[in-house]
Amino acid sequence: MRSAVLALLIAGLAAPALANEGKLDYDHQEKWSAALDRAQSPIDIVTASATPASGDEPQALEFRLSDDVDKVEDNGHAVQVDTHAAQAQIRGRHFSLAQFHFHAQSEHTIDGRHYPLEGHFVFKAQDGRLAVVGVMFQEGAANAAAQTIIDDLAAHAATARDIDIEALMPKKHEYYHYLGSLTTPPLTENVEWYVLAAPVTMSKDQLGAFLARYPHNNRKIQPLNGRPVIHSAG
Ligand SMILES: [Zn+2]
Repeated sequence: MRSAVLALLIAGLAAPALANEGKLDYDHQEKWSAALDRAQSPIDIVTASATPASGDEPQALEFRLSDDVDKVEDNGHAVQVDTHAAQAQIRGRHFSLAQFHFHAQSEHTIDGRHYPLEGHFVFKAQDGRLAVVGVMFQEGAANAAAQTIIDDLAAHAATARDIDIEALMPKKHEYYHYLGSLTTPPLTENVEWYVLAAPVTMSKDQLGAFLARYPHNNRKIQPLNGRPVIHSAG
């Protein structure tokens, strides 16, 4: 009897985190594992506890758009746009946009508050370093760029269209920066996060279109474990 229980336990431990390929089981996140798990994302950003950015280094996030095609896809756990249509100078270093995707509700919280949707703009440096810019979306005026994504997704658009990425970002680049991780397996650490303080609006219907596809693809808040959160006025 005891060995049967043990066998069940082992079977339970060995159960894969991925229920089937491309799908993430957000209801059994405890089965996800990271090689390192002391500096994970997302986190709750406590604005009153954030450290002002040092004046000794460049702080700005600057985005430069270039002409390239964008491909909207449903990757099995999020709505994602594969694109190289933007370059960024992030604190003085050059990055290229690799893709962006959306989580509902927001993965990060700001002073404990979730937004209905969070966009992750995944930038990669030439040396492979990842910097993810997080953008919060709230209900308000309709967003033309969001509508392009929704339309392409509904149409299973084979041909790519230009998406106005700037329209998916706030004008003001005030941010909270910390070192964290990918929020989906393999949960790799040493990812630079820049969560923008100013939210961007989408209409109720537009938010609904994203939530209809993935109403719950947000990882739970992870412990800060003493990491500094840096605030830059942008
Ligand atoms: Zn993400």
